[in-house]
Amino acid sequence: RPRKRFGQNFLTDEGVIGRIAAAINPQEADHIVEIGPGQGALTETLAPTGCRLDVVELDRDLVAGLLAAFSVYSGFKLHSADALKFDFAALTDEGERLRVVGNLPYNISTPLIFKLLENASIIQDMHFMLQLEVVQRLAATPGSKHWGRLGIMAQYHCQVDHLFDVPPESFFPPPKVQSAIVRLTPRSESPWPDCSESELGKVVQAAFAQRRKTLRNNLKGLVSAGQLESLGIDPGARAETLELDQFVDIARGLNA
Ligand code: SAM
Repeated sequence: RPRKRFGQNFLTDEGVIGRIAAAINPQEADHIVEIGPGQGALTETLAPTGCRLDVVELDRDLVAGLLAAFSVYSGFKLHSADALKFDFAALTDEGERLRVVGNLPYNISTPLIFKLLENASIIQDMHFMLQLEVVQRLAATPGSKHWGRLGIMAQYHCQVDHLFDVPPESFFPPPKVQSAIVRLTPRSESPWPDCSESELGKVVQAAFAQRRKTLRNNLKGLVSAGQLESLGIDPGARAETLELDQFVDIARGLNA
């Protein structure tokens, strides 16, 4: 029986499972990590390619079923662990990059994405099923109500593509929200090599601390109104109107 505290909504719609598999397009040479395999709905489309496949599942009651179904594949390895504490880098061989996939438990998706963004340099791409609203935040553009810390930090590291939406009826039990599939592809070269990620994180966190306040107010203590003006940024503007490049400009200024 699906357990709520593990965020278990199992995919049952074969059409949707097929579309996700087509989007991932797994290859034998891939090294894939699946987070939260559950009863194996996605695992079934990955393992037969003969790829190297590490799966990370927190619910111990699902372990026996997963081993019974997938141990026959030589590339398969099950980790009975919490993905939030899992050491992804330890899985990689020299020079190799991981493909990370999962129909994620929605209660941990934001911290998990931040953790994976920290590991972006060892990741080739990520395909996730998420709450639609989280996908809208990841793929948001400046000026929209979804533009904020999650989208800015994701787009700093990755190309983000909102692939398609998935209705509640595609799962058992159906979740209370709409879902969507997103692809995150870490950039091979940063367009902002001289920007420190931690400084950018600080600026973005402060800028959005109070959505109704101006940049001048939210960034008080980090940068002055005069410094913002010298970057061509209106201190009276709100954070949600700023482009990623402008946040980067502010972050660069912190150390200058
Ligand atoms: N992939 C399956 C599917 O599509 O039917 C299951 C998806 S279900 C939404 C999320 C899965 O993640 C469950 O199997 C749940 O037990 C597992 N899970 C929950 N929290 C986890 C965590 N912290 N680390 C790893 N797996 C977790």
